[in-house]
Amino acid sequence: MTPAKRKITVLPGDGIGPEVVDAALAIVNATGAALEFEKCEAGARAFQKGIVTGIPKETIESIERTRVVLKGPLETPIGHGNRSANVTLRTLFETYGNIRPVRELPGVQTAFTGRQLDIVIVRENIEDLYAGIEYMQTPGVAEGLKLISREGCEKIVKLAFAFAIAEGRKSVHCATKSNIMKLTEGLLQHTFEEFAPQYPSIASKHILIDNCAHQLAMRPEQFDVIVTTNMNGDILSDLTSGLTGGLGFAPSANIGNDVSIFEAVHGSAPDIAGKNKANPTALVLSAAMMLRHVGDGKAANDVEQAVLVTLESGIRTSDMLGVDKPASTTEYTEAVISNLGKRSKVSPPKNYKKVDLPPSQPGVSVVHAKSRRLAGVDVYIETDLDPNELASDLEILGKSSPLTLQMITNRGAMVFPSNNRSVSLVDHYRCRFVLRETATKLGDAEILSLLATLGAKHRWMHIEKLQEFDGESAFSKSQL
Ligand code: NAP
Repeated sequence: MTPAKRKITVLPGDGIGPEVVDAALAIVNATGAALEFEKCEAGARAFQKGIVTGIPKETIESIERTRVVLKGPLETPIGHGNRSANVTLRTLFETYGNIRPVRELPGVQTAFTGRQLDIVIVRENIEDLYAGIEYMQTPGVAEGLKLISREGCEKIVKLAFAFAIAEGRKSVHCATKSNIMKLTEGLLQHTFEEFAPQYPSIASKHILIDNCAHQLAMRPEQFDVIVTTNMNGDILSDLTSGLTGGLGFAPSANIGNDVSIFEAVHGSAPDIAGKNKANPTALVLSAAMMLRHVGDGKAANDVEQAVLVTLESGIRTSDMLGVDKPASTTEYTEAVISNLGKRSKVSPPKNYKKVDLPPSQPGVSVVHAKSRRLAGVDVYIETDLDPNELASDLEILGKSSPLTLQMITNRGAMVFPSNNRSVSLVDHYRCRFVLRETATKLGDAEILSLLATLGAKHRWMHIEKLQEFDGESAFSKSQL
């Protein structure tokens, strides 16, 4: 009996999506891989039908069945729905890790040609500012919440090392902005430094994200795997795509606990949609990552090698620099198919192992603190008073509270008590109240009572408790 074929959900997507997806499917089919494809709808068409997430129920059911998706780019039409269909997919199936490999490709001319770049960005894919939790705190001040969890950091760090081991790579850099964002970005750095010793065969190093960008532009060959937070990873991975030939060549894998989604880094490129001009390489290489993920390493190697051989033979799509007579999408695809089974002269297949994915923990992940203490509260107030007027008002209003005003900041700069006059003030103040030396008890009741008193005279819109865990402050200290 012939073994059942493994089912894969395919989302052709929008713009150039259907063209590059068809190219990838034709190549995968030509390898003889035992796969069966379920084509489903998502993106612009779904939005037009009034599905606010852009992902129809039937598509979600197919993904739940197959747990592997090959996906074309999805547009987020302006004026339809309130969320990107891409973000919906990533969060719905918790694809927590985004792997974006780039490498020097034969005949793809760049400023770095000859330097054998081979870099992978492993990006956290769910948390951070890209969760899109935003508020207008006042009519003139916007807030975006950067939430980073220990669980998310641990998963992405373990994924980066597991991927490095599977590919026989030598080093993992962790790129963060922990010098400024000590608690959020710092959490990834500390988690990385805690787990790195468990992988003694891989060199590990922390690097500040701005220096990382600079080093990538100056000496990119020093990097192998880079693990980073969501927004940093989005930006860095577009940069590394640019170093090696552009978006037309950049594949990616979104790895989740149960579901993994393989897609090109590029979008729907509406300007070239339907013109048979799109470069399908990024999606074809994403399909190769998918083949490796489902355990067909031979077909994955065959696809990657056929792409290399095609590029070595001088066949190019129109997005590549210095092309006189570009091949169409279909001509390029046919060339790749005709090269299946051949091996590259410059880049033979690597000896890939299976990625040992970190197991997902059932239930709620909890980080315990042995001791906790409430030390105060930051109250955000909207007012056109100047800092000294506001401070004297708050001191009078808080007279009978166990909390006393410690400082006020405006746009991040301290304006009371040091009164930094050089800052351009806006009508949005962060007012820090801490427990008086003479007071002993601080709980929700005392904070709510202070808020009620302040709220009778001032418009507050946000508070943040100042906590200590295991004797350590769990909040950023005042700036000058
Ligand atoms: P884009 O679609 O990536 O296109 C930017 C430009 O890059 C294109 O105009 C084209 O440039 C070139 N390009 C991209 N892919 C190419 C390919 N395969 N072959 C040849 N050229 C290619 O970025 P965008 O214009 O910012 O986004 C368009 C839509 O895609 C938006 O609705 C966005 O939300 C969506 N998007 C989706 C995803 C996803 O589904 N994961 C990712 C990013 C964006 P030229 O023809 O001008 O040279």
